[in-house]
Amino acid sequence: MIQPRLGMVAATVAIVGTLVVTDTAAALPATRVFAQAPNGGNASTGAHAGVRATAAAPLPPAVVSKRIIGYSVRGRPIRAYELGERGARKTVVALGSMHGNEQDGTVLISQLINGKPITGVHLWVLPRDNPDGYLRNVRHNARGVDLNRNFPTKWKRATGYYNSGARPSSEPETRVLKRFLDRVNPGHVVTFHSPLRGIDVYGAKDRPFARRLSTHLRLPTKSFDCSGGCHGTLTQWFNRNHPGACVTVEFGSDPRPRYLNVRAPRGFLRAIGGSR
Ligand SMILES: [Zn+2]
Repeated sequence: MIQPRLGMVAATVAIVGTLVVTDTAAALPATRVFAQAPNGGNASTGAHAGVRATAAAPLPPAVVSKRIIGYSVRGRPIRAYELGERGARKTVVALGSMHGNEQDGTVLISQLINGKPITGVHLWVLPRDNPDGYLRNVRHNARGVDLNRNFPTKWKRATGYYNSGARPSSEPETRVLKRFLDRVNPGHVVTFHSPLRGIDVYGAKDRPFARRLSTHLRLPTKSFDCSGGCHGTLTQWFNRNHPGACVTVEFGSDPRPRYLNVRAPRGFLRAIGGSR
């Protein structure tokens, strides 16, 4: 069971088999899913294909819709929450915890989900994009793969700490994120990590945006080159294959609770043109 820590709503959605998406994600109703639970998966919400779960709990006021966009290696759902205004000029996606032991982004995203309604931006947030790693508080997914080395841009075989997987996009979580980002096609993606404390400008595609994040999150701009060259990262893949820009945000090793719960969510919203 994934514990609803951080005060997040652990609502269960109704699922009726595989959904073939033919329109943009924003056009889908709130309780549909993008993907079917894998056979033999142990999704703990009752979210197996063909099983109708219990009625969904009411969504927090800030949430326009929520949906399951796919499943992890262990069959845990990967959830996306839609916030803000669908008609806004700009769409942003924020990813909370690609490395399961770096959970500060999940705290920030939880505050966005559970606060007042957001205006001025169309925002999708994924609190736990690596749910198996998050639950065990480890960097990798359940097969020991570093998801941020598994994307199919400049992928290179690596083992150990930076295990890049058997081949590009070998991991279900990687494929779920790719599919979701292809459908939403946001102007900006922000992926939260820690503990290097900075906004990455290494090969930055949109420096003004990185500087806005730096100002409003009170983090310095830094050049993170993955210790000598990045391979197969989400940022590389998105920046090469989409018109928008992806930026890595690294929180420090031990940010204060008030910063993570109040200042950082407020600053993040300001940086992406939103307010509440
Ligand atoms: Zn990380």
